[in-house]
Amino acid sequence: MTYLITQACCNDASCVAVCPVNCIHPTPAEPQFMKTDMLYIDPQACIDCGACVPACPVNAIAAEDELEEKDTPYLEINAAYYTKYPTAPDFPSPPSSPRKNFADEPLRVAIVGSGPAANYAALELMRHSAVEVNMFERLYTPHGLIRFGVAPDHPGTKAVTDTFKVLDRKPGFSLFLGVEIGNHLSHTELAAHHHAVVYAMGASADRSLGIPGEELPGSHAATDFVAWYNGHPDYADLDVDLSSERAVIVGNGNVALDIARILVTDPDDLAKTDIAPHALDALRTSNIREVVILGRRGPAQAAYTIAEFLALTQLPGIDLVIDPLNAELDPTSAGLLQSGALDPTTRIKVDMTSDVAREGSHTADRRIVLRYAESLERLLGNDRVEHVEIMRNHLVEGSDGEVKATPTGDTHLLEAGLVLRSIGYQGTPLPDLPFDPSRGTIPNTEGRVVDPDTGAPVPGTYVAGWIKRGASGGIGTNKKCAADTARHLVDDYEAGRLPAPSQDRSWLEGLVAERQPEAADGSAWVRLDAAERALGTEQGRPRVKIIGVDEVLAVISRT
Ligand code: NAP
Repeated sequence: MTYLITQACCNDASCVAVCPVNCIHPTPAEPQFMKTDMLYIDPQACIDCGACVPACPVNAIAAEDELEEKDTPYLEINAAYYTKYPTAPDFPSPPSSPRKNFADEPLRVAIVGSGPAANYAALELMRHSAVEVNMFERLYTPHGLIRFGVAPDHPGTKAVTDTFKVLDRKPGFSLFLGVEIGNHLSHTELAAHHHAVVYAMGASADRSLGIPGEELPGSHAATDFVAWYNGHPDYADLDVDLSSERAVIVGNGNVALDIARILVTDPDDLAKTDIAPHALDALRTSNIREVVILGRRGPAQAAYTIAEFLALTQLPGIDLVIDPLNAELDPTSAGLLQSGALDPTTRIKVDMTSDVAREGSHTADRRIVLRYAESLERLLGNDRVEHVEIMRNHLVEGSDGEVKATPTGDTHLLEAGLVLRSIGYQGTPLPDLPFDPSRGTIPNTEGRVVDPDTGAPVPGTYVAGWIKRGASGGIGTNKKCAADTARHLVDDYEAGRLPAPSQDRSWLEGLVAERQPEAADGSAWVRLDAAERALGTEQGRPRVKIIGVDEVLAVISRT
């Protein structure tokens, strides 16, 4: 018997650290880490001890003999990794304790943002004694993309917030809610009170396609649409029109799949999740029956992960439709497949696509259609989107070996009233900090922010998560990323590279009170969280999100 990792894998490698026989890979020490869809258990090496099960923050590990029918493909998915990477080095021992006694001068760090990367950075820093961490969040709710990005029908992924609860009990940890850096406080002011500032505010901005008609009503960025259905206060009023029968999504990453599912899932099922009440109301009257997802390249290059694709094939009452001709592999990918050289997870992905194309059912009244090698050329309509023009692509191997899409000139029109561009997230610049607009990140070397012209470190300034490395990877991939940054920060502190703060704590608290009288602390979130869960219990839901700022302030100001 072996244990297996399944769909909810968050990649944070908590399981790796507890495995006594090093049978879970890739480990954070291996080059494949953060590059694979998920982690995998080696069926040959697993000793069936089950130590990994309680360590998993998202309940993604199951015993082979207790596997649900829908999860049986994970037997092959876990084993396939080891056909390419049969051996791997050991997980490194944890970092040694600091060389210097922090008690002489407690290390004080500000963390900007409260999402996964911010929390993982705080956890790593607070493993040391005598460390103070002040976390700043511009909203009145913490957890960033876990609350506003993870799809409501993925409650297991959201359970990772339990891992962060330990911070609430740590002496020296403070949460400042409703405080925006770059607005209420500047980088210089934060730096004056701390040895170091870690920016971990994610990458929440959209990217545009730059095609005609993109600005028509009915055309939205996926980032906005996701924020809308997840109850982000800035997007609660987004004008989402679901009156047409067809939606088109551009891009085929996991965000595209999340959106497609939400658009066609039975609203009675969504009513059991924490989806925003306004989105649930809108979806109850939605006319959308078909969602077309356009990938500009082929099935072998699809950006979605196997786990999310597999889940799409198992949705009750929804057909997944793939046209066999449209899904044919380009010559390069077909050659790799034939020679057996295709990466094992890509091979499984391609096989699954062929299976759906061959056997997919066409009986339900709602469906998700996956199209490949097609790009959006323009959006058409009088007052709003009515049609899209789609271009068929050639797939050719570039000089770098990557398969690239080039237009064939062959176009066709498709009727659609809702168009969502799901082509990735990017970061936004902050005053007083360097920014790389081409990558949408803050320039850095292994988490140390650098001046892009000279490459010199910006003293005491660090980054973690998507703003450090770009918008890729699920929640848990931020664990190693943030821990690496935190370790460099501690190294710099120990080596005397971080000057002592020039201001004390009372100065910081006074400044926050003066600039943002409505700032709240961690206890405010405890009250809001309890209020949302209580509302949820009344309605048979995990929580009912309280969204409007006035309503939130009313709840958190209750004692
Ligand atoms: P993504 O995975 O990077 O996918 C972006 C998609 O947009 C790709 O299909 C890409 O195609 C396409 N694209 C980019 N520029 C384009 C253009 N100009 N025209 C047409 N297509 C274009 O991004 P994402 O879906 O936003 O996800 C971000 C990260 O969050 C990913 O790592 C994802 O796995 C993770 N995530 C995970 C989950 C989960 O685990 N359940 C859920 C949501 C998000 P090319 O490949 O051809 O560039």
